[in-house]
Amino acid sequence: MKYILVTGGVISGIGKGIIASSVGTILKSCGLHVTAIKIDPYINIDAGTFSPYEHVVPHITDAIQEWVMKQAKISVDDDGMEPQVCVIELGGTVGDIESMPFIEAFRQFQFKVKKENFCNIHVSLIPQPSATGEQKTKPTQNSVRELRGLGLTPDLIMCRCTTPLETAVKEKISMFCHVEPTQVICVHDVPSVYRVPLLLEDQGVVSYLCQRLNLPVEMKPRKLL
Ligand code: ADP
Repeated sequence: MKYILVTGGVISGIGKGIIASSVGTILKSCGLHVTAIKIDPYINIDAGTFSPYEHVVPHITDAIQEWVMKQAKISVDDDGMEPQVCVIELGGTVGDIESMPFIEAFRQFQFKVKKENFCNIHVSLIPQPSATGEQKTKPTQNSVRELRGLGLTPDLIMCRCTTPLETAVKEKISMFCHVEPTQVICVHDVPSVYRVPLLLEDQGVVSYLCQRLNLPVEMKPRKLL
């Protein structure tokens, strides 16, 4: 099983859901069996009925990991085949207090399932204030630093912006977020969100994921639309 964790930075409502489903779509178009999990980071523990001999934190992170592995195996296709790839969207923004147990669970999870079976897509915002019209990278730099500080390394940084990323801006993100320019993906505003899978495909996301996760894809991706 290959796991792709989609996290978000800077603000919520940035387009993680669209990106997670678009990644699933392009992988499905390669003939892979893909499932998805959406996590909304809320936890309900009644401390009053909790045994004082149990420790909460390890229990929560272990329970999250076991639950993810169990859900990922459930078939979602008509042929009843077990999925090969699970795209996990983690709601909220990295650094939010409520998502901390989930981030910590996935930090541990990447070692449990091994590097070739887990990767992280971090969705971030590139604001473009109208006063200068410049695309600003600082919020993304800060959110990637926060993500790394919590033990997750972005494999792809997907930048949400109003207009396509300028080359110099892409290079700056690559330099200061410590990734190759090919790992910086532009997801600008488009008139229809059905264009997002095509945007990702055009920027080599399929071939990156196939290589990074050693996905069993021999054929060229089928036409998406
Ligand atoms: P999140 O999962 O981060 O809360 P969503 O995926 O639900 O965000 O997207 C938030 C809103 O932004 C939705 O209305 C969605 O249609 C819109 N959206 C996302 N990506 C794009 C895009 N590239 N271009 C235009 N609208 C987008």
